[in-house]
Amino acid sequence: MTLYDLFFPPRCPYCDTLTGCVCEACSSCMKMINDAHHIQLLPNGTPCISAFPYLDFFKESMLRYKYGNCRQYYKAFAITLSKLVSYAPVDTPFDVYTSVPVKHALPGNRFDQAKLLAQSTAKRSGSVYESLLLKTKFTGFQHDLSAKERAENVVGLYRSRDGANIEGRSILIFDDVVTTGSTLSACSDALLSSGAKSVCSITLLY
Ligand SMILES: [Zn+2]
Repeated sequence: MTLYDLFFPPRCPYCDTLTGCVCEACSSCMKMINDAHHIQLLPNGTPCISAFPYLDFFKESMLRYKYGNCRQYYKAFAITLSKLVSYAPVDTPFDVYTSVPVKHALPGNRFDQAKLLAQSTAKRSGSVYESLLLKTKFTGFQHDLSAKERAENVVGLYRSRDGANIEGRSILIFDDVVTTGSTLSACSDALLSSGAKSVCSITLLY
């Protein structure tokens, strides 16, 4: 138990009960989440691996994590994500983990849910997290837009950070949810055009 756990006691992300220790889920929810994984190709042809569908209690769990003051879920989600990494359809281990840059960097809201997931999963897996991408402007929320509007909205929106170490590296990009894949495609395109050897995406929900 850390000081953080005292202030934000570990809860099962799916039923929100106190678990008493950092674990993936409570024993009854564990029966529903065991080893699920889903692999799809994003619009740009790169793979994306995800755990659960964006439905029912998985969706409610994510909404509590992002907007409902249940940030401590990131530790439980990182356990799921660190298991999921082993299902990634790539030959070599990833050189570095990164994340989709924050979507709503409004004043007073410093919560970067994708970065927390990536950093915590890197720590669990003995991997390295680096912030490799930048978002070039604030765009509001993507979730009310159609697939076509989303795809248009992300053109030129992401770029590699100046001086980021990308060339020749195999990179895993984290986000919380993949919907149309336009955001993760734009991010992986930015990394590939900066010389990444390969890019794969990972999300908790799809
Ligand atoms: Zn539970």
